[in-house]
Amino acid sequence: MRLTRLYLAGFKSFAAPTEILLPAERVAIVGPNGCGKSNLIDAIRWVLGESSAKQLRGQSLDDVIFAGSGQRPAASQAVVELSFDNSARRLSGPFGAYDQIVICRSLGRDGQSRYSINQTRVRRRDVVDLFLGTGVGARSYSVIEQGQINRVVDAKPEDLRAYLEETAGISLYRERRRETESRIQQTQDNLSRLSDIADELG
Ligand code: ATP
Repeated sequence: MRLTRLYLAGFKSFAAPTEILLPAERVAIVGPNGCGKSNLIDAIRWVLGESSAKQLRGQSLDDVIFAGSGQRPAASQAVVELSFDNSARRLSGPFGAYDQIVICRSLGRDGQSRYSINQTRVRRRDVVDLFLGTGVGARSYSVIEQGQINRVVDAKPEDLRAYLEETAGISLYRERRRETESRIQQTQDNLSRLSDIADELG
């Protein structure tokens, strides 16, 4: 599975619709300071569901929308699309049968994020689930930013374990287990409430 295309419009410094094709195994993006290289990485993490403004180097979430410049008015929304080559069927689930998977996220000034996978409207969670266990994700090891190597070297054992679990593809099952445990707990709480009510009535 490879990222083959990045499309941005109204995202940070990318005011105009911009398509970046990534046609090879290795692609380098170079440019002067401040030209927007890191904004491309922010865009990738944003589409994959990043929901912390700080992680995207902003103060608030709508800081990702182009703020306007001397020549251009501010954008009304930010849109980013990622296209993945899935011909090797690394992604599974409802979209796993497609050769190409296109993930889109948009955010308007109303503060509402909208996600789609292959033009089908989905929840953020569906995007996160699609990539769980693949190493691709807003905070997973496929995006290595400046300073991250130091953070890995200094990481606490539990954080290192999380990296290893994602690499081994078992974080997906850990997440499922966490959800199931929470549902079991809710059901137990409901049963105990029912039993209290039954006692009172009886
Ligand atoms: P360096 O090589 O110094 O790390 P870079 O190429 O990675 O730089 P970025 O950090 O990606 O550069 O881009 C910074 C630029 O993006 C700044 O000029 C900043 O003003 C601009 N920028 C960030 N957010 C917005 C926004 N919402 N609207 C307009 N411009 C923005």
